[in-house]
Amino acid sequence: MIRITELSLPLDHPADALREAIVTRLQISAAELINFTVFKRSYDARKKNSVILFIYIIDVEVRDEAALLQRFADDKHIRPAPDTHYYPVGHAPDSLSERPIVVGFGPCGLFAALLLAQMGFKPIVLERGKDVRRRTKDTWALWRKKTLTPESNVQFGEGGAGLFSDGKLYSQIKDPKFYGRKVMHEFVRAGAPEEIMYVSKPHIGTFRLTGVVSTMREEIIALGGEVRFESKVTDLVINDGQLEGVVLANGETLHSRHVILALGHSSRDTFRMLHRQNVFIEAKPFAVGFRIEHPQSLINQARLGKYAGHPQLGAADYKLVHHAQNGRAVYSFCMCPGGTVVAATSEPERVVTNGMSQYSRNERNANAGIVVGINPEQDFPGGPLAGVEFQERLESRAYELGGSDYCAPAQLVGDFIRGKASREFGEVEPSYKPGVRLGDLAPSLPDYAIEAIREALPAFGKQIRGFDRDDAILTGIETRTSSPVRITRDYETLQSLNLKGLYPAGEGAGYAGGILSAGVDGIKVAEAVARSMLATHNDT
Ligand code: FAD
Repeated sequence: MIRITELSLPLDHPADALREAIVTRLQISAAELINFTVFKRSYDARKKNSVILFIYIIDVEVRDEAALLQRFADDKHIRPAPDTHYYPVGHAPDSLSERPIVVGFGPCGLFAALLLAQMGFKPIVLERGKDVRRRTKDTWALWRKKTLTPESNVQFGEGGAGLFSDGKLYSQIKDPKFYGRKVMHEFVRAGAPEEIMYVSKPHIGTFRLTGVVSTMREEIIALGGEVRFESKVTDLVINDGQLEGVVLANGETLHSRHVILALGHSSRDTFRMLHRQNVFIEAKPFAVGFRIEHPQSLINQARLGKYAGHPQLGAADYKLVHHAQNGRAVYSFCMCPGGTVVAATSEPERVVTNGMSQYSRNERNANAGIVVGINPEQDFPGGPLAGVEFQERLESRAYELGGSDYCAPAQLVGDFIRGKASREFGEVEPSYKPGVRLGDLAPSLPDYAIEAIREALPAFGKQIRGFDRDDAILTGIETRTSSPVRITRDYETLQSLNLKGLYPAGEGAGYAGGILSAGVDGIKVAEAVARSMLATHNDT
């Protein structure tokens, strides 16, 4: 297989133009081209007011590959294609009686369990929340009726925190073994659109993701795995530095010497339990801020110029960073084109925001977190759980500022910059459900964060015209941008630094940030568990 990079074609090119372009680029006859697949398609919008082009990476099969590669030996855009196939590390023997446990069924736990099931290890998945269908009902009850179910919400339940999301599937992690392709491939097999395999910024949106996740659960069960909902792990069984099992909230004990802990960033009671059990955890940096909303048309215009609204490009996104004079970095986070701001608390009397969208991304507003990086040394000293406590304090205050009924505090951007409480909306309507309460957001975050965001918004307005328009809306607050702790693991074995048999993984353990990277980390720990179980079995 040969890979061609940087092959560009006009946005509206007919489907067969790609074949022609390949043949022309490789200087071969049509008959010599056996097959081709699109590996990646991105677009270059730097000349948005003259021409936007699709840029392709194509993998091709030709009759005489060796001769062709020799002919293009000096051309860095024509090279042998890397092998991106996934190869499992082994298969469980029939005589293996131990079953690995996976705690948490977000993207990390889902991929860990799927891989273990595919390798024949028959994992037992324990998830504190409910299955997709019942979880969706509970989550909507908060958004529509202000009724929170603490064990079943945006954070907890089948599919994890990413279920009600934009379903963005890209990440900046290094991925030399192409685990990300495996994640995408499994999503497509379970019903995600084929295009996620090749578009440069794929997304699947909330509704599609729910179907995909339940199809993957069916596969795990069909392969001999077990998925138990409403099964919260509340304690660990430890013997002489070795994990031997977990205890559930209903008192049941399950034994295993291989437990993957894929908790997500919101399982604060479980972090506390781990600390009590002396599992090594440490505080880590995260970010706090607000969600900002603008009309999507404003972002499309700024990003795509005369191509705004072009059906091939969809709703435009953005990524912004500003280094404030007080030394803080302010950046956009989890941008959701054509989406809504959502109530994302899992705890009573707390308010926290996030964003989601459907596959179509056709809601009126664009939203993103505008957040400030914070770190334990400077901002929340005081031990491994100080970041958790810091988040809790801010979320409780946001609840009060929102009126103590799960509405969120909000302010217009112009008023926020001028330090004046907001009283009425302009043209931009907030999408947050169950609703927002206008006022002053300054008391909701530490002064250094407010100062940095005040400085950043006009700076962002220079990059995206209208970003700092007076009636854009800030909704508070963002606190769960990533985990406030790291459950540190050994680099080689991926086990906890001081508890053998415990495999901390995914976002909650501080090893992922986003759906794709959590899925990739799930694959890595599944492989580590498989290797260890095979080695232990062979020794006995
Ligand atoms: P999680 O998805 O948080 O899953 C952890 C699971 O563990 C949960 O289901 C929880 O119930 C369970 N659990 C916790 N403790 C226990 C226990 N003691 N016993 C049993 N089960 C337990 N990322 C993107 O890449 N793209 C996006 O578009 C995107 N949008 C998002 C939108 C929203 C609203 C939110 C909240 C997040 C979004 N994210 C997005 C972030 C993404 O969801 C997370 O990075 C990802 O889900 C982390 O995966 P994870 O498996 O590590 O943890």
